[in-house]
Amino acid sequence: MEYLIIVIVLVVLALIAGGALLVRGRRRPGRVAEPPQPPPRAPSAPPGQDVDAGAAVQAPGPLVTEAPAAEVAEAPQPLAGRMTRLRGRLARSQSGFGAVLLGLLSRDGLDEQGWEEIEDTLVGADLGAGPAAHIVGELRTQVRVGGARGTTEVRSLLRKDLIEQVGVDMDRSLRVASHGDRPAVVLMVGVNGTGKTSTCGKLARALIGEGSTVLLGAADTFRAAAADQLQTWGQRVGAQVIRSDREGADPASVAFDAVKQGIDDRADTVIVDTAGRLHTKTGLMDELGKIKRVIERQATVDEVLLVLDATTGQNGLRQARVFAEAVDITGIVLTKLDGTAKGGIVVAVQRELGVPVKLVGLGEGLDDLAPFEPATFVDAILG
Ligand code: GDP
Repeated sequence: MEYLIIVIVLVVLALIAGGALLVRGRRRPGRVAEPPQPPPRAPSAPPGQDVDAGAAVQAPGPLVTEAPAAEVAEAPQPLAGRMTRLRGRLARSQSGFGAVLLGLLSRDGLDEQGWEEIEDTLVGADLGAGPAAHIVGELRTQVRVGGARGTTEVRSLLRKDLIEQVGVDMDRSLRVASHGDRPAVVLMVGVNGTGKTSTCGKLARALIGEGSTVLLGAADTFRAAAADQLQTWGQRVGAQVIRSDREGADPASVAFDAVKQGIDDRADTVIVDTAGRLHTKTGLMDELGKIKRVIERQATVDEVLLVLDATTGQNGLRQARVFAEAVDITGIVLTKLDGTAKGGIVVAVQRELGVPVKLVGLGEGLDDLAPFEPATFVDAILG
């Protein structure tokens, strides 16, 4: 009998314990965490060593190919018409300069001092002494010949002269279309902090929005943060990023692998971000020259875009000179035009380099990059 009682007690206890376990199990389904997935790694054959003299390429270490984000937040705005859409950003920062000019020009009987003030205003807006003197000369002749003019007429004279200085006959088109089975290659160069990486991301987004496949190459291997930043942009805009996981890897090698991947994937455009150290002119020349040569073993470099911060004025022009000596620039990207009242830099930098401003940055948003349009720009300045 005692045995029977003990057995019954044991059975009851076992049933209670079993029930409790069952309830716990149901309350916390799937508690066991999924093992973390390692980032996909593309086995990267190190580029060959048979580079032209003095340009041996070191293997960059394994390259990490980041898959694009599954979905991009919002559809990008079409590139065409962006400058008109964003002209408010320009007008806000430029109105000072335009309004002062129009105010001075509307004065009755402009005297020598008045014309000097106009010239100073143009120079103060970073237009450069030559173009400022030219515009004043033109205006003086037009006013002298036509006699005193009303505000509207003076505005249209100034508008015409400014547009002429900005240049309407320059080819501002971007060569970003693939060549058959080869992607177009865009090399983004410029000093750190000018907006190079953001421009790579914004341009990739715009091209993807137009139906292209874009690959980003993180050839700024000098700062680890630069590749991380490009990777973030890649995920944001839906572009694959080719990078090295080793800080200080050979930038030319990463650029080579990015283009190779672009060819294998039949991508339309490969955009290569480069380091922006202005160490020495020779160093810069060597580095950019080597990147370009190594890419050209398998594709054409279609665009070398120099990114300049419009707020840096004369300093920006100095940078432009150094880069132009290091590599053949095909176009200028002028960023932060939303943050300066000195839009004349457009004229000055084009004169300095003899190449057109092709794109302008008008903010930090994903779509705040616009193809440059002279008339829209001048209209924004004049309000
Ligand atoms: P990088 O070092 O040359 O690659 O420059 P980043 O792309 O990191 O940009 C530097 C800073 O400038 C970032 O805070 C950007 O958001 C900002 N930036 C870039 N382009 C523009 C622009 O057109 N307007 C404004 N307001 N900020 C910009």
